[in-house]
Amino acid sequence: MSDKSSIEQASLLNSDELAQTVSDPAVRIEELRREIEHNSYLYYAKDAPAISDAAFDSLVHELRALEEAHPEFYDPNSPTQRVGGYVGEQFSAIQHERRMYSLDDAMDEGELDAWLDRVEEAFGGMVDVVCELKIDGSSIALTYQGGNLVRGATRGDGTTGEDVTANIRTVKDLPLRLRTESESGLVDTQRVIEVRGEVYMPKSSFETLNRAAEANGKQPFANPRNAAAGSLRQKDPTVTAHRDLSTFLYAIADESALAFGTQWELLQWLGEAGFHVNPDVQLCATREEVHAFCQKAVERRDSLPYEIDGVVVKVNSFARQREMGYTARAPRWAIAFKFPPEEKTTLLRDITVQVGRTGKLTPVAELDPVRVAGSTVARATLHNEDEVKRKDVRIGDTVIVRKAGDVIPEILGAVESLRPENAQPWSMPKTCPSCASPVIREEGEADYRCISIDCPAQALERLLHWASRAAMDIDGMGEEIVTRLVESGRLSDAADYYTLDEVELSLLDMGRVNKEGQPIRLGQTVAKKLVAAIDESRGRAFARVLFGLGMRHVGKTTAEALAAVYPSMEDLMGASEEDLAAVEGIGAKIAHSIFLFLRTPDNQAVIDRLRARGVNLADEPSEEQEALPQTLEGKTFVLTGTLVQSGMTRDEAGAALKARGAKVSSSVSKKTSFVVAGEQAGSKYDKALALGVPVLDESDLLRIIETGELPSE
Ligand code: NAD
Repeated sequence: MSDKSSIEQASLLNSDELAQTVSDPAVRIEELRREIEHNSYLYYAKDAPAISDAAFDSLVHELRALEEAHPEFYDPNSPTQRVGGYVGEQFSAIQHERRMYSLDDAMDEGELDAWLDRVEEAFGGMVDVVCELKIDGSSIALTYQGGNLVRGATRGDGTTGEDVTANIRTVKDLPLRLRTESESGLVDTQRVIEVRGEVYMPKSSFETLNRAAEANGKQPFANPRNAAAGSLRQKDPTVTAHRDLSTFLYAIADESALAFGTQWELLQWLGEAGFHVNPDVQLCATREEVHAFCQKAVERRDSLPYEIDGVVVKVNSFARQREMGYTARAPRWAIAFKFPPEEKTTLLRDITVQVGRTGKLTPVAELDPVRVAGSTVARATLHNEDEVKRKDVRIGDTVIVRKAGDVIPEILGAVESLRPENAQPWSMPKTCPSCASPVIREEGEADYRCISIDCPAQALERLLHWASRAAMDIDGMGEEIVTRLVESGRLSDAADYYTLDEVELSLLDMGRVNKEGQPIRLGQTVAKKLVAAIDESRGRAFARVLFGLGMRHVGKTTAEALAAVYPSMEDLMGASEEDLAAVEGIGAKIAHSIFLFLRTPDNQAVIDRLRARGVNLADEPSEEQEALPQTLEGKTFVLTGTLVQSGMTRDEAGAALKARGAKVSSSVSKKTSFVVAGEQAGSKYDKALALGVPVLDESDLLRIIETGELPSE
């Protein structure tokens, strides 16, 4: 299974495909919700994020914007309505007496000002606010009873957290008892109080931990935040004790326990009580002071010994905080100003060329690894030759790398003053780096392609794509195994997967040797699972097969749109290029690419072999459809204009006609049996009249769909 999420793949689509993906808000909203949930799970439950925080935040932002524009898709379970988190089974659950919230983000100074506007509106002018650094760690809630630490809990989903008391006790900088100096700040010293803040791992401890993990062949943590969360959620507290964790505390669950009334005083009091309080805090009375604090934090970020991912601005007075209240997931009285995208410079060591599954050649910048916005960047796509020329980056250059609200790091350009004297402008090699065939660039296209059918790099990419999660989802079929199978000559196209057997797979030489010098083989357990996964993939929906075939321009959404209109390979093969172009969301360019793919003998051969090996190439017709008499067989319909009475799209109406045996075409000819004209029908209607083809209206259409009976011609 490929680790690349579909959203990451979506971001690699070209703009046409991307536009198509977002054209249906309901689909996009669903996709985003699924993707955000999946990544939240990896982040909170596994402490192993698959995408950067900036990328994650941009997905959440896109979802929020779509939900605001389409309130009809409101769902209380949407990730925008909830506090992200996870309660693992190895800990007992703790119900938070007072909910733990997340924070709303301000992605730039404009959004920060918009929040300050809201504060001013609420109180008729600017009020005191406290600026604090946003520590990039893991939320923690500590309960003290009679001054003693009795419980530590994670935030979890905000309502229910995990009991990590045994682990939290091992964090050295936490007071197990409140200092008596702080008693005067409490209304009642016997009352239970809950102090909240952040557990974090200093940058240097994180580096040491990861170096040790790598030396022991273990998976390193993605960033200090995940390392802190992972260390706190260990089954064995002695493991936590050996991790160098620290804390900063900044909140109390119920401020009525306090004898004072502001956030600023709370910070002082927490210090007196024995907690670590971050010293970089400021009480601000004006907007200018808030902006200056944020600016200073941006500049100081790298020199701090711990990671921060922004600044939290909070209304100072508790009474005012109560007045502003909370949304479903965050306080209205606070905002997290997130840092702007980070830029770093590094050395461009080389420009290599990657061959994609469609033969596209992509230049890739090979960089001296550099930390940008919380993760290490060693490679970045340069898209195509024109882009390299436009940015004029050359091997040996010092380049500027930026990571914005996107998954993919970007090379902004070169620092020309640092260019070595002999650095040459880069151009695309004339032959494919994988198979040495000549490469071509078609007129009007930005990309060079290797068009050799035998190119091993393309085969590998195509095979991985077929097995990937969004396509046929052959669980466990990862890059290493597929590479070995390709190299051993056993896999060259998708149909070959379905000829692999357990014995053969178990003996697959993995190209490594064990301590005794014996070759390491895949082994029976993995082989058995793989064969089961391959078998299971035979029954996937037809849309996944279409996506898996890797036709150019056919992303997931396009494949689904195609399968909705042409539910079987047979139907699809029978469609003309014009028919294809008439499917909603598919334009002439995509239709051409699909048509060409399906007419290429080599591809047809693969499809035939897939069929012969039991791969599902047709969606089961529904029982209702199966029962329908094929009374429209031999008739060709053309649909034009908008259908208003039924609310059906033309594709849906077309599918209903096909269910009764009709053909649906996009162009009117003498052979057309009927043209159905909806509202605002245009040239097809005129053509029908000119050729004497009978024209039906929407009521006729509905009658035909319902009864299967044709009007007399
Ligand atoms: P958040 O981390 O953006 O903000 C809320 C948290 O900030 C609070 O719960 C608190 O623990 C913390 N915080 C730190 N310093 C604070 C201070 N001084 N005052 C108040 N709070 C302070 O929101 P979140 O809901 O915890 O998580 C969202 C974050 O997690 C985002 O940054 C997101 O990118 C990341 N995330 C990433 C992935 C991924 O796949 N990369 C997945 C899920 C979440």
